Amino acid sequence: MRPCWVEIRTRALEENMRFLASLAAPHAELLAMVKANAYGHSLALCAPAAVRGGAGWLGVTSVEEGIAARALCPDTRVLIMSGIARGQAAAAIQFELTPIAWELWQLDELESAARAAGAAPGSFPVHLEIDTGMSRQGVLPGEISSIFSRFAPGSPLRLEGVMTHLYAADEADGQATHEQLARLDNVLSRISAAGLFAEWLNVGNSPALLAGQAQPIGELAARHGMKALLRPGLALFGVVPEFDPAFDVEVEPPSLSRARAALKPVLTWKSAVVGVRSVPAGASVGYNGTFVATEPMRLALIAVGYADGLVRSLGNRFHLLVRGQRAPLVGRVSMDQSVVDVTDIPGVVAGDEVVLIGKQGDETISSHDHARATGTIPWEVFTRIGPRVARTAV
Ligand SMILES: *Cc1c(COP(=O)(O)O)cnc(C)c1O
Repeated sequence: MRPCWVEIRTRALEENMRFLASLAAPHAELLAMVKANAYGHSLALCAPAAVRGGAGWLGVTSVEEGIAARALCPDTRVLIMSGIARGQAAAAIQFELTPIAWELWQLDELESAARAAGAAPGSFPVHLEIDTGMSRQGVLPGEISSIFSRFAPGSPLRLEGVMTHLYAADEADGQATHEQLARLDNVLSRISAAGLFAEWLNVGNSPALLAGQAQPIGELAARHGMKALLRPGLALFGVVPEFDPAFDVEVEPPSLSRARAALKPVLTWKSAVVGVRSVPAGASVGYNGTFVATEPMRLALIAVGYADGLVRSLGNRFHLLVRGQRAPLVGRVSMDQSVVDVTDIPGVVAGDEVVLIGKQGDETISSHDHARATGTIPWEVFTRIGPRVARTAV
């Protein structure tokens, strides 16, 4: 096997799941967000681990991802976060997937597919998304009454959940979240005034949970006779999101301090040294010779490139771990290979393990380190790890 792989600690994921459930309790239950191949960690490894850790719900992006999750976890609720695409209602019903819906056509397609499948009145659950401020998915609060008739008695559809997405739960002042929850409160009152009842209030990502929002969300749900469901993703994989601005350590929410201590990173990304060579001063390294050896150097060729998700612009400005030390990337990262400087790391030989994300000896490279160096966020760092990088459970 080409030595470029990801190790997934499924036990760590299970423990993260249990820990996050304890943070949410008694205010809310949790959906484990495993969209986009479990944030690049492998749905096949992570969905069953989340369920072993107690997840009653899984969140995926699409019906396609939902069908894959259903095959892995036959008895778990599966929520389709981006809703059905046209023509997918029958598949959602066949595989017992629960769509988020916000467009009238989605509700119409679901209703006719449910009738065609012989569904009894109120038997097919749907979660309705409300746009409380993100302008992405969701019914605008002003247009909510247009959907009430879709859940009239006799319809096979049941309004099981009301969902919204918080767009700034990582902003430490919590102001945007507070405003979104106030808008949601208002919409919930109008839903019950229309004689409709939803069992679940489905709100909140990792930053919301870690910042202590399970309680206000749970209280909002309770005021409307509902149960709260939060939807952490990143935290499940053991990564604590950054807040803006960062909380001072003395005043950070206790849930966040507890999470820092308890969450364990699930993913380690590894490769290996393919070969080591000595080059003289003046040797140029990689495409376009963007690095030129200033002295006699030892260089190690590593089996990882940008097609694996190591961002090309990291050439000459990042490092990998070799023998527990930081080895600078020299020259451009190629599609399938890269080169590190091991002049100051004694004893490097072909076959040595290399760490791109994770710990080796006393050194660690985190997804946050990659994110900072490439102007992005850990979510993107994980999801760009390429499909040819094997994911193995450890
Ligand atoms: C991805 C996603 C989440 C999880 O977000 P994290 O920040 O990774 O916890 C929650 N809700 C929705 C709608 C999402 O798309």
